[in-house]
Amino acid sequence: MIELYLATQNKHKIEELSALLGDKFLIKSISELGVIEDIPETGITLAENSMQKAQFIADRFGLTCLSDDSGLEVDCLGGLPGVHSARYAGEPKNDVANSKKLIFDMSDCVDRSARFVTVLTFHHKGQYHQFEGEIRGEIVLVPRGNHGFGYDPLFQPENESRTFAEMALSEKNVIAHRARALLKFRSYADESLKFIDE
Ligand code: IMP
Repeated sequence: MIELYLATQNKHKIEELSALLGDKFLIKSISELGVIEDIPETGITLAENSMQKAQFIADRFGLTCLSDDSGLEVDCLGGLPGVHSARYAGEPKNDVANSKKLIFDMSDCVDRSARFVTVLTFHHKGQYHQFEGEIRGEIVLVPRGNHGFGYDPLFQPENESRTFAEMALSEKNVIAHRARALLKFRSYADESLKFIDE
């Protein structure tokens, strides 16, 4: 089984990624490498930030790794918070403050449609591959549910009556943006990576 370092400090993401990849890869945390700080993300797109995180680990350690950059894009806000999702309300990053700001900024929005997007970057032996997943839905008026993280209590996926935060992780994992990007990554791994059993 190949060791795969997850280039994130976010425990929720590690949990979600491990649940979806744990049978194929030996999932490792970058804290084992002594990386305990947030990896810088200064790009202007999710794809750039995702690449930056994978390169951070690849450049320093040369290890096989997977990074994720995700964001919430709200149509009536022209795609905000987007790359600013984690720090929408400013420093230090705070999920509750971000959600409050989003509710405030959307007070005049009739169209409440939004999407979550994830861009994964996989690094192995100097090669990089990116995979994108999205889920469309809408931003509810009042937060609901206690599961998950970030904007989960505000996001109701299309064709659902519950927010992500009202779903069990196992349910969210079947339909969410990160899961969709991961499915693409898994297909790639299954078909293309002959090294997988090395
Ligand atoms: P990053 O990918 O670590 O830069 O995080 C971006 C931000 O987007 C997070 O801090 C959350 O606020 C938000 N976000 C990303 N994925 C999710 C999700 O699955 N649920 C809720 N919020 C999310």
